Amino acid sequence: MRQLALILFLFALVLVSTGAETNYTCIICGKGPLHGRIWLSKWGAVCDVCYRLENRCSLCGLPMRDGDDQAKTGDGRFICKFDRPNAVLDVGEAREVFTATRRDLVELFGRGIALNFPDVTVNLFDVDYWSEKGREDSLHKFGFSYTRKSRKGSCTHEVVLLNGRLRTELAATAAHEYTHLWINENRPVEHAVDGDTIEAICELTAFKLMESRSQPEQLQKILNNPYTHGEIKELVALEKENGMSYIFNWVKNGTTARLVSAAAARVAPVKTPAIASTNVPPPLPATLKLGGLLLDGQSRHAIINGVSFAAGETKSISLRNRVLSVRCREIRRNEAVLEISGLMNFITLKIGEERFVP
Ligand SMILES: [Zn+2]
Ligand SMILES: [Zn+2]
Repeated sequence: MRQLALILFLFALVLVSTGAETNYTCIICGKGPLHGRIWLSKWGAVCDVCYRLENRCSLCGLPMRDGDDQAKTGDGRFICKFDRPNAVLDVGEAREVFTATRRDLVELFGRGIALNFPDVTVNLFDVDYWSEKGREDSLHKFGFSYTRKSRKGSCTHEVVLLNGRLRTELAATAAHEYTHLWINENRPVEHAVDGDTIEAICELTAFKLMESRSQPEQLQKILNNPYTHGEIKELVALEKENGMSYIFNWVKNGTTARLVSAAAARVAPVKTPAIASTNVPPPLPATLKLGGLLLDGQSRHAIINGVSFAAGETKSISLRNRVLSVRCREIRRNEAVLEISGLMNFITLKIGEERFVP
């Protein structure tokens, strides 16, 4: 549930406090015109009473009332009425997303990526699914795939996808899991491939799909995900030079455990790839995000990755692989200017904006 806590932290908020009446109306309770403390979320103004509501949208962090036009997943995650139209909550729709994804992958890469055994059972699951399976890691999974091979060599494929995610993100996970199925069918047993390389190839097809659908945010997420230990970046470069067919051909006919020569030079134990795969989201963000601004009379605060900064203040922010020392240099109307220790240039973040720190 760490993921959910993070999403809450990232909730984009601004508190406007002038004392005077404004032309804002609360998007939760409809009260307005509002005055005093007003929180501006990415969807609009929220009154101070609604801001204190306990339930939050698991996708955007918006506070929610019971009975609003909301959805709730089986494991208790709420999805607000604004995100609901773009969230996938039923298995029929998840199957449509999966079907559209595999069709687009074949269109992008050719018949070579079509499955020889095309039947794939697609299901949705809730977070609880994993605890029921008695898994020790409490990491919240986005997807899972499995291929059963019969003695005669035929394959039965299965994919499970996490319920209640945005359609675009679900498609990226579907592309990842579909690629696992293709690898399960096409990699000869004698071609041992490193686990990170397999994951990176799966991430690469998701990357190419998101590129073809013009989803720059998703591309950034895939590149920043430490899941493949950086190998995804090497594969993106390799694909640019040689094309995807080179990579697919290597899976079928290659002999090395790793695809990238630079990576191959590293002394790394070769792991035996499991035929089942899980797509694991990152536990901590790799990016800095300005969740919002808090303006209360003369005092102003910028909320960065859940940490509150006054202008001039320096604090630490834990990112995935390191702790950054961040100084909030200036807070403007809808953005904050930051100084990061070790960086020459300032970083200016708008509300809701996320930035990878080099
Ligand atoms: Zn309200
Ligand atoms: Zn939402």
